[in-house]
Amino acid sequence: MTSDHRAAQAEPAEVHLAMMDAVSWRRWATQPGSTVLIPVGALEQHGPHLPLGTDALLADRIAAGVAEGTAMRVAPALTYGYKSQQRSGGGDHLPGTTSLDATSLIAMTRDLARSFLQQGVAHVVLVNGHYENYQFLYEGVDLALRDLGAGRREDQAALLLSYWDYVSATTLETVYPDGFPGWDVEHGGVLETSLMLHIDPSKVRLDLAPDHPAAQLPRFDRLPVVEARTPASGCLSSPSGSDAAKGRLLFDQVVEALRTDLVEELALPDSR
Ligand code: ZN
Ligand code: MN
Repeated sequence: MTSDHRAAQAEPAEVHLAMMDAVSWRRWATQPGSTVLIPVGALEQHGPHLPLGTDALLADRIAAGVAEGTAMRVAPALTYGYKSQQRSGGGDHLPGTTSLDATSLIAMTRDLARSFLQQGVAHVVLVNGHYENYQFLYEGVDLALRDLGAGRREDQAALLLSYWDYVSATTLETVYPDGFPGWDVEHGGVLETSLMLHIDPSKVRLDLAPDHPAAQLPRFDRLPVVEARTPASGCLSSPSGSDAAKGRLLFDQVVEALRTDLVEELALPDSR
């Protein structure tokens, strides 16, 4: 096999920093504009048809798609998240849902963001895939910056975002031709199911996917939760109408919009 042949067969460049050696890491991390994406998900029931790790898996694959062909790198995902809430994830009482207390998630986020910045990384970007995490990631990042205090270089910064905020109105119309139910009840529904069908169809059991109207939940949270308010399937809206083409559209559109935003905001070279 010639080297040309090998190059033609080569996988896309490795973007996961867990696969880097320490010497390359040090050289990379201390370059101007070095940017680490940290995907964050959850271990959470997603109905009978999707894996428990869906949120982390989607955040990781989207982050890798964003980083591909750029100088950005993707840190190992946080695969546990804050407690699932009934009005956004069905509830923390459901089997399979295995969650962190807020203090744990804040502490993990704070430690990781501070460590990457102390090693010279210019930007840390939290790529969130689990609705309930967001404010605790915000707190962790805020405390990490407070820890650095005057030791923070002027160019160092952290960003955080949830990937679904990058889905455009045009994409929404295509993915939900009968009307969009809202991001809060998009749990085990068309977005996550379609994305999984695009990314890893072997992990989706469409034959087991439930079909029921979107959950009608109160405007308040009640603790302990009234379990009967969560649809028996564990999904807050129906995955009916999910397909890999919608998943590909969502993935490509979100990755492109997110990459464009990061490149512009962080003044990164877009080497593609
Ligand atoms: Zn999810
Ligand atoms: Mn979730």
